[in-house]
Amino acid sequence: QGPKSHAIQKNLKTVFKFKNFKSSLQQRAVETVTTGKRDVFISMPTGSGKSLCYQLPAIVRSGITLVVSPLLALIQDQLEHLDRMKIPAQTLNSQIQGEKRLAILADISSKKPTTKLLYITPELAATNNFQSICHSIASRNLLSLIVIDEAHCVSQWGHDFRPDYLKLGNLRVKFPQVPCVALTATATPHVQKDILDSLKLKEPTVIFKASCFRENLFYEVVFKDLLEDPVQDLKNFATKVLQKDEEEGDMNGCGIVYCRTREACTTVANRLTRLGLPSQAYHAGLKSSHRLQVQNDWVDGRVPVIVATVSFGMGVDKATVRFVAHFNIAKSMAGYYQESGRAGRDGRPASCRLYYSRDERNQVAYLITQEMAKAKSKEQQRSQEASKGKQTNKHGKASIQSFECLVKFCEEEKCRHSVIANFFDDRPPNCNNSCDVCKSPAEVRKQLEYLKRGVMA
Ligand code: ADP
Ligand code: MG
Repeated sequence: QGPKSHAIQKNLKTVFKFKNFKSSLQQRAVETVTTGKRDVFISMPTGSGKSLCYQLPAIVRSGITLVVSPLLALIQDQLEHLDRMKIPAQTLNSQIQGEKRLAILADISSKKPTTKLLYITPELAATNNFQSICHSIASRNLLSLIVIDEAHCVSQWGHDFRPDYLKLGNLRVKFPQVPCVALTATATPHVQKDILDSLKLKEPTVIFKASCFRENLFYEVVFKDLLEDPVQDLKNFATKVLQKDEEEGDMNGCGIVYCRTREACTTVANRLTRLGLPSQAYHAGLKSSHRLQVQNDWVDGRVPVIVATVSFGMGVDKATVRFVAHFNIAKSMAGYYQESGRAGRDGRPASCRLYYSRDERNQVAYLITQEMAKAKSKEQQRSQEASKGKQTNKHGKASIQSFECLVKFCEEEKCRHSVIANFFDDRPPNCNNSCDVCKSPAEVRKQLEYLKRGVMA
C-alpha cells in the first residue's frame, strides 16, 4: 500500500469509471509510475490497457505529463477519449495554430496549468522551440512524467521504425530528474533492448512485461501438400469452429484468413463463398471505399469471414474472432504472433491454424533476401555512413531470424506455445493441450514423417 494508493483507487473509479484494474500487472505498473522514483518499461499486448498506466498516474501526480505518440490520428483518439472523461489534455503539433495554440501555450506557461497531459509527435519533440517549452515547464517543477507510447518505433528490429524516435533519448537526458515511461506491445528481446538503450532509460529501470502466452488459443499447423483440397479443408475448419461457437450460444463468431498475395485473397474468398461460407476479400488493391465497406461488413457481423493480406488488422479491435487461419506462411514469427493473436480477444477459446508448405517457405525466404538486398542498395545510395549500413543489416538479420523461427515452429515437434514463448524470451508456459503437438502428438509426428522422407521437399 503506497502513500498514493487511496488516490489511485478513487480516480480509477470516479474518473476512469473502472471497477478494478484489468490485471495485477496493470495495477503494479500504475503504482510504480505514480511513485515516480524510477524509469519504467511496460510491455503488454494490444488491448491490455497500457494507456491507464500513465494516464492515471498523470492525474494523481502534480504537474504536466508529456506523452510522445507516433501518429496524429492516435493522438486524436486519445484526446477524444480523455475529453469524455473530462481529463484536461492537449496536443501541440503543426496542425494546431492560431488562438488554439496560444491558449495552450498560455496555460502551460501559467503558474497553475489545468493541462494534465500534453501529447506531441516525435518530430515536434526534437525541435528547439519545443525543447524550450519543456525547459520552461521543468524549471517550474511542473514536468511530471515523460511518456513514450509505441516505444518500439525506436527500434530497427521492429516493424514501424521511426527515425525521429531516436532523438527522444536526448529529451530524456535533458531532464534527468523527470521519470520516464516507455510502453509497447512489441516485446521481442531485441526490441526491448533497443528501447532501453536508445531512449536512455535510467538504471535500474522497472520492467513490467506481460507473458506472451495466450492460453485460450489453440495453435496448429497443417501441411498443405498433404491435403487434396486446401480451400475445402479451410472451409471445413472454419465452419466447424463457427458452428461450435453458435452451439455455445455466441452468434457473433467470425474469422480472419490471411493470404500472402492480393490474388490469393480474392480466389480464396470466392471459393469459400461458393462452398457455402460467406467471405470477402480485403487488400490494399481495392478502392478505399470498397475496402472500408468490406471491413465494416465484417466488423458488424454481416459477413463472418474476411480473407485479407496483412494490411488488415491494425486498429481493428473485434473481440469475438474465433479463428485466424494463415493460408500461407507469415513473414516472421513476430508477425505471425501478432496476426494470430487477433483471435480470442474476449478470452474464450479460439483457433489459430497455419497452412504450411515448403514451396511457400522457399518463396518467402527468397522475398526476404530480396527485400534486404533492395534496402541495402537504397541505403548505400542515400548515405555512405558505415553506421547506417550496419543498421539495415541488423534489421535484415532480425527478419531472417524471425522467419527461421516460424519455420521451426512449423517443422519441429515442439509445443507451439513454448516455441512462441522461447522467441519472446518468456518462460515456457503450461500449454495444457492447447496445441496440436501436445494434444495429438501421433498425428503431428505422422505429418512430419512426410517432411523427413523428403516427399514434400
Ligand atoms: P493498449 O494501449 O494496451 O492497447 P488501451 O490503453 O487502449 O490498450 O486500452 C484498451 C481498452 O481497455 C480500452 O477500451 C480501455 O478503456 C480498457 N481498459 C483499460 N483499463 C481497464 C480496466 N482497468 N478495466 C476495464 N477496462 C479497461
Ligand atoms: Mg496503446
